[in-house]
Amino acid sequence: KRMVQMLDAYVVGQTHAKKVLAVAVHNHYQRLKMLQEPDDDEVELEKSNILLVGPTGTGKTHLARTMSRFLDVPFAIADATSLTEAGYVGEDVENIILRLLQSSDYDVKRAEMGIIYIDEIDKITRRTENVSITRDVSGEGVQQALLKILEGTICAVPPQGGRKHPQQEYIRVNTRNILFICGGAFVDLDKVIQRRLGNHVLGFGAQEQQVDAMLKGREALKHVEPEDLLSYGFIPEFIGRLPMITALEQLTEDQLVAILTDTKNALTKQYQKLLWLEGVELEFTKDSLQELAAQAIAKGTGARALRGQLERLMLDLMYEIPGSDQIESVKITRGAVQGKSKPVTRRKPKQAAA
Ligand code: ADP
Repeated sequence: KRMVQMLDAYVVGQTHAKKVLAVAVHNHYQRLKMLQEPDDDEVELEKSNILLVGPTGTGKTHLARTMSRFLDVPFAIADATSLTEAGYVGEDVENIILRLLQSSDYDVKRAEMGIIYIDEIDKITRRTENVSITRDVSGEGVQQALLKILEGTICAVPPQGGRKHPQQEYIRVNTRNILFICGGAFVDLDKVIQRRLGNHVLGFGAQEQQVDAMLKGREALKHVEPEDLLSYGFIPEFIGRLPMITALEQLTEDQLVAILTDTKNALTKQYQKLLWLEGVELEFTKDSLQELAAQAIAKGTGARALRGQLERLMLDLMYEIPGSDQIESVKITRGAVQGKSKPVTRRKPKQAAA
């Protein structure tokens, strides 16, 4: 519960994902405690890596990063699309572990308790089209390679990164207690789920309405089951290593506004602080925030667009204000966001002549 409270201060919405993540992370570190102080019964706790399914810019990476900061454990982000099975052009999976090592200043013990977020995991399915001739055709090889580190293996990590050389000294890292959080947008996975749900209930009258609601668009993602991931192109062993699955929701306009204003380091707060350092007050009208959110929704990249939009919006002001000691306050209006008018600036009252 404390973890969810903490996440709430930084991440808007995604209530279910926060809960799943908190439970999984808590159990993970309970398991580590057990390993350090084993008791006599033979119940062995298995590691539960996590799979986050959800559209771009809904906070998957943000959740994982915020969680690791709260726990004060090393954290690394990797991109599944850059990975290849050993021997092919691209990155070896060991480089992921290297990144975690770097984030723990090469403290192996600490790295072995860290968290790794692997993005774009949906791009290494069997059905993924081959993007380059040198890459393995199926994606299955990459799943196999990742599977080993997800399960737990002693990884020989080249300290400088890059490809392995026989002459090189390796750092040995045990991945058994590293928590892996995988994420991806899983385009069209909703269709796979809809097909399965549709098949199950065909002709069951009363249930049909209920299923209708479940089938509506991306809502279906909430009902994702391991078998859907199998149909999507993951090998069973790989799915078996990601027992905690949760779906993130597309952010609404109100939630995007909340991201702009409510979270601990909300973007508008950051700009307000920057201008405050210049002695200038910055205000955003309510409809300017709604306009920013609406524009972000139109871009279809969730909250990702917000930062860029604000950077563009604020550039001229951030350029002009530091050299001028006459501006007292700035108001960002809807028109300013739409590019139809300039932000409203108010000047300091003229000092009365002595
Ligand atoms: P994803 O990994 O789902 O594609 P990210 O976590 O990288 O998306 O989101 C991009 C940025 O947008 C984050 O760094 C964060 O600032 C913001 N963001 C996204 N989702 C949320 C959210 N639910 N709450 C607060 N900020 C968010």
